Amino acid sequence: MPVRPPIHRPVGRREKRERDQDYARQRDPVSRALYRSKRWRTERAAFLHDHPLCVECERHDLIRPASVVDHVDPHDGNETVFWDRSRWQALCASCHGRKTASSDGGFGNARRYSQAPRESKSLTISMT
Ligand SMILES: [Zn+2]
Repeated sequence: MPVRPPIHRPVGRREKRERDQDYARQRDPVSRALYRSKRWRTERAAFLHDHPLCVECERHDLIRPASVVDHVDPHDGNETVFWDRSRWQALCASCHGRKTASSDGGFGNARRYSQAPRESKSLTISMT
């Protein structure tokens, strides 16, 4: 019977679930409530329906389905910014992860606000 080779886990490495829990805990409760709201779930789904492709990949002539609605500007729980669809963009998980790591203080980095200049590029896709 084939046996899966052991997976190397460096000492101190924490499981993804633990890290996610920590992240949720440190994230402010206001934002958490916003992301858990029914309105967000509905509007997020509608936005992804209208913007099915990752805009970041598109800039590099790649076509990847978007799975994340990203706030272009950090909203910090500010509802005006949070619900402003003109500040949303559809990203794939990979591009969102990259953005989060560089701007949201991922990998233990301090939060930075230097972001790539916004390109307002409207996406026209006919779904027929
Ligand atoms: Zn992407």
